[in-house]
Amino acid sequence: MKCPICRHQSMVTVNLEDGPKAYHCGACEGDWIMANDYEYWLASREVAEESAHPLTQFEIQDSPVPKLCPTCRQILFKYRVRQDIQFHLDHCRGCGGVWFDKDEWKVLRSVNLHDEFYKIFTRAWQEKLKQLDQRDNFAKLYRDRFGEDDYAELRKIKAWVEAHPHQQLILGYLTSEDPYRP
Ligand SMILES: [Zn+2]
Ligand SMILES: [Zn+2]
Repeated sequence: MKCPICRHQSMVTVNLEDGPKAYHCGACEGDWIMANDYEYWLASREVAEESAHPLTQFEIQDSPVPKLCPTCRQILFKYRVRQDIQFHLDHCRGCGGVWFDKDEWKVLRSVNLHDEFYKIFTRAWQEKLKQLDQRDNFAKLYRDRFGEDDYAELRKIKAWVEAHPHQQLILGYLTSEDPYRP
């Protein structure tokens, strides 16, 4: 099997650290995981006690060139992983294979995403990412408009109003021009 980045380079089979069998390119150090190898590993591995890990960042060379699936020759699609992870994963919609550039597996391993990374390729996962981006954009907008201090104050007030038993009365009071008239 040929590397989708280096093209001519043949890949050799390896076992990823705490992971499935993969085809490894010695030149660019990327790994190709086939869907059935991944499923076999998921089903057969012994699950260790998993604690929350801090995200380990590596200098990832996320190759920008379009890649062809080394198994079935279809175009690989790029998928965002998480908001705090900058690289994309390349996934084949034909055979389900996934390409990891050098060290991408290690990053997923560090946040325990290595045993459920197939969720990344679902619509739900990608929609959730978009929603988080939207929330960040709104937060940035408010911060720009109000300034950091007023924005912090505003959030405090909002939380206070929402937790208050007389929430509706308070909102009416605040928004009424003259709350002392019937
Ligand atoms: Zn390569
Ligand atoms: Zn494929």
